[in-house]
Amino acid sequence: MSCKFCKTKPVITLTNSNINLCKSCFIKYFERKALKTIRQYELLKKGDHVVVAVSGGKDSLSVLNLLNKLKDKMKLTITALLIDEGIKNYRDKSIEDAKKFCKEKKIKLEIASYKKNFGKTLDDMKKKNKNTIACSMCGVFRRSLLNKKSRELKADKLATGHNLDDEAQSILMNQLRHNIALSSRLGPITGVKKDPRFIPRIKPFYFLTEKEVATYAYLHNLVNDFNECTYCEESYRFEIRDILNGMEQRHPGTKHALVASFIEILPLLKNKFKDVEIKSCKNCGEPSSSEICNVCQVIEKIL
Ligand code: SF4
Ligand SMILES: [Zn+2]
Ligand SMILES: [Zn+2]
Repeated sequence: MSCKFCKTKPVITLTNSNINLCKSCFIKYFERKALKTIRQYELLKKGDHVVVAVSGGKDSLSVLNLLNKLKDKMKLTITALLIDEGIKNYRDKSIEDAKKFCKEKKIKLEIASYKKNFGKTLDDMKKKNKNTIACSMCGVFRRSLLNKKSRELKADKLATGHNLDDEAQSILMNQLRHNIALSSRLGPITGVKKDPRFIPRIKPFYFLTEKEVATYAYLHNLVNDFNECTYCEESYRFEIRDILNGMEQRHPGTKHALVASFIEILPLLKNKFKDVEIKSCKNCGEPSSSEICNVCQVIEKIL
């Protein structure tokens, strides 16, 4: 078994095509694929200020690494933004990885915590609300804080390390929960309609699998260990991830097919939801599709 292109020792077999690649051919393949997504979906413009959402994990440090490489060529300004949920033995470790990486690469790192912005850490919220799924609170807070801080930083784009596996999970989750309005906000670049209060989110790794991103991170020595959030086992996404991984093993190409079919219908979905009015939350003033935004609704319920 050898690399398809240069006949040296391979580091990965691509799931969808069964092609073996060595370290340098894989890195070329990976970066070209991300660049193709950036060009095809116009994720970046020359001179953009890109805020990169980093968690200190493999996906976010890989996207930060790639965008940092593109910085000079595209005259980008890069700022890393880390959301500290306050999860003991998980986030505190990955914060150190993010700090180390940003220091090495001389990237400005901003940290925004739940404690400072919402008054409590996620661990405290969970202690007080034992029967509430942590991710249902956490996801709402993180989405909102990322948008708010990126706006304050005057970002043109908010980049995330979402990969093909993440997107396949989101598509399936929304289908099974009959929540296609949420699906209309997916895709390589989000936003059903332009609104200065929402910073467009871009996903350069949209067509790269989790395995490919993990390999890229490993080959660049970006993270020491792949630890998971303490609460991830209670999440619906975790269940969907197992289902999709099982399907992929039995029927290779399942995740690619799911995302490719979704991309074909996405313009129809965006069109269907294009007239949804974006109001301002009566409580906090943040953009919202209802009178009171999701953050204020969750705070009302749990704090
Ligand atoms: S797994 Fe859930 S609780 Fe943990 S960081 Fe992700 S969304 Fe938050
Ligand atoms: Zn090779
Ligand atoms: Zn609000």
